[in-house]
Amino acid sequence: MNVLIVGSGGREHALAWKMKQSPKVKNVIVAPGNGGHSERIDINSNDLDAVADFCEKHNIHCVLIGPEEPLSNGLADHLIRIHPNLMVFGPLKDGAQLETSKSFSKHFMKEYGLPTADFVTVSIENVKSLDCVFERLPWKNSVVKADGLAAGKGVIIPRNNAEAVEAARSILHGQFGNAGRTVIIEERLEGYEVSALAFTDGISFKRMPLGKDHKRLLESDLGPNTGGMGVVAPVSVPKEVDRQIDEIFEKTLKGLADRKIKYCGVLYAGFMIVDQKPLLLEFNCRFGDPETQVLMRLLESDLFEIISSCVNQTLNTCDINWSTKSVCGVVLASGNYPKSGDKGSPITEIPSPDSTNVVFHAGTSVINSQIVTNGGRILCVTSLADTLHDAREHANKIAQNIQFTGKQFRKDIGKTIDIGTPS
Ligand code: ATP
Repeated sequence: MNVLIVGSGGREHALAWKMKQSPKVKNVIVAPGNGGHSERIDINSNDLDAVADFCEKHNIHCVLIGPEEPLSNGLADHLIRIHPNLMVFGPLKDGAQLETSKSFSKHFMKEYGLPTADFVTVSIENVKSLDCVFERLPWKNSVVKADGLAAGKGVIIPRNNAEAVEAARSILHGQFGNAGRTVIIEERLEGYEVSALAFTDGISFKRMPLGKDHKRLLESDLGPNTGGMGVVAPVSVPKEVDRQIDEIFEKTLKGLADRKIKYCGVLYAGFMIVDQKPLLLEFNCRFGDPETQVLMRLLESDLFEIISSCVNQTLNTCDINWSTKSVCGVVLASGNYPKSGDKGSPITEIPSPDSTNVVFHAGTSVINSQIVTNGGRILCVTSLADTLHDAREHANKIAQNIQFTGKQFRKDIGKTIDIGTPS
């Protein structure tokens, strides 16, 4: 089988690495990929016709769509329409709305009884006075969110109501373009966060181990939000919380079926655990980045088999095995990340992959046979060990050794996992 993976991040490098281990897979090509891929093709993933043409010309059997943007542009719909026999892993545009429109997602949660923070939506057309909206809110502290995709920057956690009003005003007045025509104002939750991902064929789902992302740029969870500076997995939660997470996935699939939305891909639920209750912060309609880099290290089963079973709607008969070891993933970012990153600095001391350590590429490219930085998050070091402590030690040592100008990384990934004691 020939597999095309769409995307250019660390997530896609990890998926390609795992996919290549399948005896059923002959070639894995990544579009547009990064400096870590041996086989890549420079196609813009938002050029739907170019992706469809490539599949035809290169005899692609299976396409795995990594990022949310091509999914929101209808890449899965387009590929299935043009090539009905192609295996396409990733939801259609209607299912992708769970991520691409936060107001769709919050109303969906409300309709199907999925626990989440209380919220109101306001849009540029229906708001006369933002001050009045905030005065009437039944909660004290708010979080302000742009409705659409805003490259992970569309969520503002203000220090007080004056900042919240200002944030909402600035989003409505174009800070994120059309993504901010509607704003969601929701109650601010206090608790600890976990990422729950599941494979689904739209009928059943199989959860992956829970992960703990570290979104803030700086150690001790300080600094601005980023795409994610590191992840550890598995993390454990009390059994009752785990049961409720299962129930939320079940209800979500029922809601999708009720709305006649066919969903094949990964459903990612971000939770805040508050007083032993998982409350949904968000849905993503795809694998997380950097969660995927650590999850692929734990996955013992054949990724291609899992993808096939999702496409063929036989996931309930597919056994998926996960290592019981721990993984720590540490992201190395460019100097001024999360602002625009520097590019072109040579990267040295990347170790070859072994059974403990695998370094996945994200913002890298190759110039004259030299791996160089290409802005943003550059690499993700993943280390697998019997204990989280050992995994952290390995990952931090490698992160320290790798060299490029402006390198920044958090040394505290997985150091304090503020998770309730499992019951
Ligand atoms: P991503 O970059 O993962 O796509 P996003 O931009 O879609 O994220 P959310 O995941 O909804 O946005 O929120 C980003 C972060 O903001 C969350 O991980 C959480 O830390 C914080 N957050 C979001 N909603 C709330 C809330 N109601 N209360 C407290 N914190 C929140």
